[in-house]
Amino acid sequence: MRGSGRFFIGGNWKCNGTLQSVTQLVDELNAGSVPDSVEIVVAPTFVHLDRVQRSLKSPFQIAAQDCWVSKGGAYTGEVSAEMLHDMGIPWVILGHSERRSLCREDDELVGMKCEYALSQGLKVIACIGETLEQRESGHMWDVLDAQLAAIARHTSLANWANMVIAYEPVWAIGTGVVATPEQAQEVHAYVRKWIAEHVSAEVADKLRILYGGSVNDANCATLANLEDVDGFLVGGASLKGPSFINICNAQN
Ligand code: PGA
Repeated sequence: MRGSGRFFIGGNWKCNGTLQSVTQLVDELNAGSVPDSVEIVVAPTFVHLDRVQRSLKSPFQIAAQDCWVSKGGAYTGEVSAEMLHDMGIPWVILGHSERRSLCREDDELVGMKCEYALSQGLKVIACIGETLEQRESGHMWDVLDAQLAAIARHTSLANWANMVIAYEPVWAIGTGVVATPEQAQEVHAYVRKWIAEHVSAEVADKLRILYGGSVNDANCATLANLEDVDGFLVGGASLKGPSFINICNAQN
């Protein structure tokens, strides 16, 4: 860990859950033992947010999985940042690769979403990451540069304190193929250097950079020890209470 603050664990529940399964998951999390040294944020679907917020106990915090790019209004089907803030939801995930690919969110839109969410008082988990094709064709650094540049263009110096970056190689998401420790450390160090050069050295030193992509209770301890890994964004394994609790204890 090099960023400042606590090691960060995000659980992205994606489009999963029934009333019954969400209730069970919340019960499992509430029963788990997690260290004070870790900041933990789980992201249920919009329809489950209220129920989870009412039943999940401290120290767990809540995130939404997305929000609209500007003030709410005539945007059928969308949820605005100010609504989330009004509901007392502190965090939002933006730019997840599933939204980038399935909902065609481009770098600029993700940057604008970050800017608006931060302006409304939300904290942001901003996701970046390359596809296998981009990595193998030698375009990985250009892709990451462009994703970071769009976020940086829209983020004031002060607002970096309210943002974490999640590096999630698309080829590792939901595939069971986790990045090797060398691959993860290489990109995390690159991201920190990029931020130092294009934003500020102070922001780079403090920024928490999360790794995401097939993190589970078997591989989390090795990844947690890497110098520039300051936390995780967990998908599949965050739906299993005991596994997620183990991941929250990855540094022990
Ligand atoms: P995964 O998903 O842990 O299931 O690979 C990670 C994510 O999409 O955030």
